[in-house]
Amino acid sequence: MPIDFLNLKQVNAPYEADIRDAIGRVIESGWYVLGEETRAFEQAFADYCGVAHCVGVANGLDALHLILRAYGIGAGDEVIVPANTFIATWLAVSQVGARIVPVEPDERTANIDPARIEAAVTSRTRAIVPVHLYGQPADIAAIEAIAQRHGLRVIEDAAQAHGATWRGRRTGSLGDAAGFSFYPGKNLGALGDGGAITTNDAVLAQTLRKLRNYGSSVKYRHDLAGQNSRLDDIQSAILRVKLRHLDADNARRAALAAVYLNGLAGVPVGLPHVLDDAMPVWHLFVIRTGARAALQAHLASQGIATQIHYPTPNHRQAAYAAEAWPDLPITDKLQSEVLSLPFAPYMTEETVLTVCASIREFFARCGHDGTRA
Ligand SMILES: *Cc1c(COP(=O)(O)O)cnc(C)c1O
Repeated sequence: MPIDFLNLKQVNAPYEADIRDAIGRVIESGWYVLGEETRAFEQAFADYCGVAHCVGVANGLDALHLILRAYGIGAGDEVIVPANTFIATWLAVSQVGARIVPVEPDERTANIDPARIEAAVTSRTRAIVPVHLYGQPADIAAIEAIAQRHGLRVIEDAAQAHGATWRGRRTGSLGDAAGFSFYPGKNLGALGDGGAITTNDAVLAQTLRKLRNYGSSVKYRHDLAGQNSRLDDIQSAILRVKLRHLDADNARRAALAAVYLNGLAGVPVGLPHVLDDAMPVWHLFVIRTGARAALQAHLASQGIATQIHYPTPNHRQAAYAAEAWPDLPITDKLQSEVLSLPFAPYMTEETVLTVCASIREFFARCGHDGTRA
């Protein structure tokens, strides 16, 4: 039996009956945008994250972009972002016309290295956007301390970390505001695109409610030149169903991660490192190896699918070729070595052990660096 990297039909299978009911309810209601389902989901997700406000939007990129816009960050401003992240974190900054200031990761966690942030702060810096990559909270205590010293906003990119905690506090509540994505493959995934912003800032939330809806809170009165970026009621209804199971799903992910960590102990690969204060939700299970291409080919030959998050660093993408970036050797190194193993809550421990056995076999045959492959 081939082992998928991630099979979304299998992810949603346990909830299929409830999801069909939810969709049916929305069809019956005759109200499909900014209706009761969206209001109810926003309330439930705000409660879940431990914040006062949640504003549903069209996707995770819009969530980040709209936060920056609502804070008035734009041309002439600088925003500190991880060098090592999905490109959406960078695109949000580009969209408001601010300057991207990439900071290298802590090699152990792949998250932004707080020790390198302060050197990147200038008089133009307005915000830091930590990403909780692969589901592990960034070192928010250190980041918050720097932000306070310099009067900066902290905007979490929580697109991979629904439910993760830092010293017991949920992502989404750790900074001034947070952007979430409900893209189908995320820990809390819709059956289409979706996103949300969480915050305790009432003024920000009010501005965001306008910005996502043509700059309007009263029909045909437009206070701002806004956008159309709304979470629709069918996706909201589906997300209400899936939110009820998020903690159980995340617990299952943690159990499977533990099986991987045990199963790969002693194998010459870099394993995920969890910070003492962090409780990750294991969006991905990512190992590191200098023999990545050979290992990936070996696994593929045994029907085991893997992926690379992400194969090309943002500063080497064509989209950003026109700009002069600093050398980012840690990001380059990480992105040449990372390999994401099959990972989803529906997996059995046996399947995880099959993947581990295949990886062990590869290194037993090919040596530590895979050179005898
Ligand atoms: C998925 C993701 C986004 C973007 O979310 P979309 O809903 O796909 O726009 C942003 N940042 C990170 C880290 C992501 O993984």
